[in-house]
Amino acid sequence: MISYITQIYGKMEMGRKNMFLKNYGHCPCCEQDTLFQSNEIWLRDYYFCMNCGCLPRERALMTVIEMFYPNWRELKIHESSPIERGASIKLKNECKNYTASQFWPDKKFGKVYDGFYNIDLENQHFNNDKFDLVITQDVFEHIYNPDKACKEIYRTLKTDGAHICTIPMVNKDKPTEKWSIKKNDEIIFLNEPEDHGNPVDKNGSPVSYHYGYDLCFLIQKWSNFNTIMISIDNIDKGIRAEYNEIIVMKKEKRSRPFSIFKNRN
Ligand SMILES: [Zn+2]
Repeated sequence: MISYITQIYGKMEMGRKNMFLKNYGHCPCCEQDTLFQSNEIWLRDYYFCMNCGCLPRERALMTVIEMFYPNWRELKIHESSPIERGASIKLKNECKNYTASQFWPDKKFGKVYDGFYNIDLENQHFNNDKFDLVITQDVFEHIYNPDKACKEIYRTLKTDGAHICTIPMVNKDKPTEKWSIKKNDEIIFLNEPEDHGNPVDKNGSPVSYHYGYDLCFLIQKWSNFNTIMISIDNIDKGIRAEYNEIIVMKKEKRSRPFSIFKNRN
């Protein structure tokens, strides 16, 4: 077992008890040479940058934003449900035109509370063609009508803009499954109840879908987005974990599959 782990985890140091992975590298969030460290085998939630505290999926997200939109600091960005860490803090601090929103179903939508717009992603108050980038991190698996959310995000994006997001692809070898439904504001789980942490709701957020790799086809069915899914494994950037996929949905003049690589000049 040790040799297998050593093989897959490369520069791992097995010094301390409970230490699972520790290596030096360069963090795409704080842009510092840093130590990445996890004391747990579940790297997705424990493999921290010891400088800024970010996690692998946030480092993957920043890497993909830099890859396709290196001028992101000059762009208009909407981030839905940001957290006080890593990629969200970087985008907030360094992007000149950054708008953050949260989802408070009990408050008036379209209004600003504590610096956040209260926005229902399925029915947004933003104008058409407003943003260059929309960012969501682990939000889509809690949305009950992802088709509506996709259409709305598409509407609020400018042409050549994109929705760049993290969504845990938990159904690796299975099609997407509906995990719960909402009926008259009541959540009914179709499978084992599952909630994830929510920074603005101590009760957490129920999981609505378990997504599989058919998500790209679903997005194409729901909207005019051209979509790609990117999986990065780069230990020098501290990017190694389960469910690290970054999904890029691009709004283009003409819908053409997999044409995100154009317009890089
Ligand atoms: Zn960092």
